[in-house]
Amino acid sequence: MFQGTTRSERAYEAAQKVMPGGVNSPVRAFHAVEGPPVFIAEGRGSHLIDIDGNEYIDYCLSWGPLILGHAHPDVVRAIAETAARGTSFGAPTLLETELAKRVCQLMPSVEVVRMVNSGTEATMSALRVARAYTRRDRVVKFIGCYHGHGDSFLVKAGSGVATLGLPDSPGVPDGVSANTIALPYNDLDAVRETFAKVGEEIAAVIVEPVPGNMGLVLPRAGFLEGLREITREYGALLIFDEVMTGFRVAMGGAQERFGIDPDLTTFGKVIGGGLPVGAFGGKRSMMELVAPAGPVYQAGTLSGNPLAMAAGLATLSHLNEDVYRRFEEMGKRLVDGLVEAAREKGIPAYAAASGSMYGFYFSEEPVVDYESAKRADGRRFAKYHRLMLERGVYLPPAQLEARFLSTAHSDADLERTLEAHRDALKRL
Ligand code: PMP
Repeated sequence: MFQGTTRSERAYEAAQKVMPGGVNSPVRAFHAVEGPPVFIAEGRGSHLIDIDGNEYIDYCLSWGPLILGHAHPDVVRAIAETAARGTSFGAPTLLETELAKRVCQLMPSVEVVRMVNSGTEATMSALRVARAYTRRDRVVKFIGCYHGHGDSFLVKAGSGVATLGLPDSPGVPDGVSANTIALPYNDLDAVRETFAKVGEEIAAVIVEPVPGNMGLVLPRAGFLEGLREITREYGALLIFDEVMTGFRVAMGGAQERFGIDPDLTTFGKVIGGGLPVGAFGGKRSMMELVAPAGPVYQAGTLSGNPLAMAAGLATLSHLNEDVYRRFEEMGKRLVDGLVEAAREKGIPAYAAASGSMYGFYFSEEPVVDYESAKRADGRRFAKYHRLMLERGVYLPPAQLEARFLSTAHSDADLERTLEAHRDALKRL
């Protein structure tokens, strides 16, 4: 039974006095949906509990990291046991090599990997390596893809940038954004034309192989293969940003799912099991440019942090092919159920899933890129989001964000979610 959000409302007012917009990351402020944000007291498995005592089935999962759900006992134990021996040393530990080995084993394109503290750091550093390796400056990204908040990537970005309607951020020097070329996702012709004109100046193409920052968009057959071909032809690097898709769309990420061999890959989220981690890695010839093996500078006081390494290792140790088979089934069941219920009510809807990620749009058409994602009905979603919250389902607070599943989500959770959905649609 939903008990209202009085405490959260008070907490939000207090937070706004001391933090920009009351939050430490923009989309959390619920600007794109109805009602104030709820403040979280606790997470347990697939459930969240807010400070007013409301309980929700969680499909945000801290925006992706919690593939085992909240407070998985093995992850909590690994963190606690590691913390008892010290939280940071700024010196090498065995845990770092262990996690690096695990990543290299799961992602054959990754021969060498460097741990960082966020996805943003990972993409910024990967681009630096690509620029150093190719001795070129320009980068191609796709409209609606989000690669963190590094200057080079805040051009027609997805996620909060799109949700708040800020296509380009003030504070990014023109000289930096001028080197970023933003093209429509899934449009190989646009990529070909761009390379035909300035291909010799392009250091890299960076792509979310399955974009999760404009809802969830599937790559058209041949799109990722085409990127691999074109970049090879022109001597540019292909960077797969697998911060979201890594260990989510398949155990070996999108590169395994689609059989692509990128030059560099970036990670975040799942790799840290809910603690602040990112990583970038790839071919030895490129990664050995990174200091101290090479001249490209990249460093971090807390990089390879023992707690984060322990949480990441504990998380990865629970992933296997059976887990991903179940994710596929769950994703399909949810997506089919959500769309069918909308169709019965005569409400246009489109949804797609890949592994443990899915997206749902109030859209008349299949969503294949940012333009079609933007045409989905945001006002309807804003209202729907609140109705779902009041019915015990916590969704990411924007239509242009992927939703996530965990091993903790049960069949009963899915059934209750579909029930809440059917009931919410009646009230739209
Ligand atoms: N790349 C992708 C694909 C992401 O989804 C995100 C975050 N949602 C980032 C990079 C940035 O990661 P972080 O928020 O950890 O900086």
